[in-house]
Amino acid sequence: MIPIRHSFTAIVFLISAYTQAQVQPCIDVRTTRRNTGAGQGVYDFNNKWTPGATLKVSFMNGSDWQKEKVKQYAIGWCRFANVKFDFISQGLGEIRISFDKKGSYSYIGTEARNRNANEETMNLGWIENSKTDAQLKSVILHEFGHTLGLLHEHMNPLSNIKWNKDVVYAYYMQYQGWKKEMVDQQVFDRYSVTMTNKSYDPKSIMHYPVSANFTLDGYSVGANYDLSESDKKLIAELYPFNKEVSLENKTTLWSKLQDLNIEYNITENGKLGMKIKQNFLIYNAQNSKCIMAVYFYNADDGKALEDNDGIQASADGKVAAYTTFTPAYQNTQFNDLSVFMPYDELELGNGIFRLKCYVALFDPNLKVITSSGYQYFTYSNGINCKEVKVQSQYDDTNQRVVITPVFTIENAKGVACHAVAYFYDERGIPLKDLNNQYVTRDGTVSSTVDFTPGYSTTLYNNSQVDFKIYLPYSELHLLKGSYKLQYKVVLFDDKWNTIVNSPLYNFSFTQN
Ligand SMILES: [Zn+2]
Repeated sequence: MIPIRHSFTAIVFLISAYTQAQVQPCIDVRTTRRNTGAGQGVYDFNNKWTPGATLKVSFMNGSDWQKEKVKQYAIGWCRFANVKFDFISQGLGEIRISFDKKGSYSYIGTEARNRNANEETMNLGWIENSKTDAQLKSVILHEFGHTLGLLHEHMNPLSNIKWNKDVVYAYYMQYQGWKKEMVDQQVFDRYSVTMTNKSYDPKSIMHYPVSANFTLDGYSVGANYDLSESDKKLIAELYPFNKEVSLENKTTLWSKLQDLNIEYNITENGKLGMKIKQNFLIYNAQNSKCIMAVYFYNADDGKALEDNDGIQASADGKVAAYTTFTPAYQNTQFNDLSVFMPYDELELGNGIFRLKCYVALFDPNLKVITSSGYQYFTYSNGINCKEVKVQSQYDDTNQRVVITPVFTIENAKGVACHAVAYFYDERGIPLKDLNNQYVTRDGTVSSTVDFTPGYSTTLYNNSQVDFKIYLPYSELHLLKGSYKLQYKVVLFDDKWNTIVNSPLYNFSFTQN
């Protein structure tokens, strides 16, 4: 578990020549950073509460009007998330709200448990009469988004905002009193992990407003006042409603599923994996040997993961994990009956995968008693780059081919990678080098550029130029004439293992 914490800041008025927008930047203090480089495991959802949970919320202080506003707007999440807020007037809740500290902030998800019981887990410093209801709703939804485990959207690994760093440094240093490192950490840095939207969503309630003079290309993001469509989708995946799949019930056994809780990235018997824990009531099953099974699917295409090694497989060859249980009574309550799924049994190889799983209970004749709704998670393993697209230009002035590979690479932060362009004739036969320049070990004409990703998810040549690969025409070593040639780009890791190949591209070339 990686603690992620969120701290306070002051209200700020961002004033430009023509507009006056209000920026309410939260500070996200992460006590530890995620490891860099290649990793394995589930990389989000670590701070979420159990779906279906009822979170008790208490107030440390504040007026009735302030409390009513919080109650009114916080539940905006609950239409889309299977989680409830129980505002209690006596005692301390898991979520404790104050109104009297500086700024607005909230602990991220279950990190609230790490806070001393007599201290607030959220402060709402801007709940004042002078604000419009839209502003109040905005800040309350934003902070409760953190409480549900969401992070800042402008730090989404895919955000790629081209900050005008000098302007942004100056602004936050002057108006917030932040140090340079703080600006790096709170504004420029991008999460290596996401509890943000899967694709970058500037409409997210979790996005800071961004003024156009903060960016090199005039990109800006206005204040967001409500949940975006992506916010609703994400929170629904994080906290799915437990839609029991009502299959034709051919058994006299009956069960009511309760909380389903998954612990990720834990080790059992020396293997890294996930533990799925289900609470349920089961009826008419005394002394019957039943089965609890968990099935795994790709969340993008809905296909079941195929099992190849016969381990952790269901009868039909799909990836599943299961355990047996025998109720002792006619009606029996099971708490935290668990199944462990080692990640390597998911048989996915390298990459980043959006997965989902569900729990099913079977009677002794393998008839389904009941099953749960889907639980979503993201699993990553090793360096990942799905594809490289390549653009090329013929720079006759400088007599060279200019190749621009466009790609997104994940889990390679700090790894010294290589991009190599290889050149072939029209039959696909490698062009041979003659002078030992622009060459691979086997003598093929090639050109190499080294690059080291700065983020766990890094975009190259996406909307700005990061690097290009050059090959002087003379290095093609061709006699006078016209040629149809081909090239491709291959990315390698620091040990020269292939990460990904581009397709072969054709081009015409005339040697004068
Ligand atoms: Zn925030």
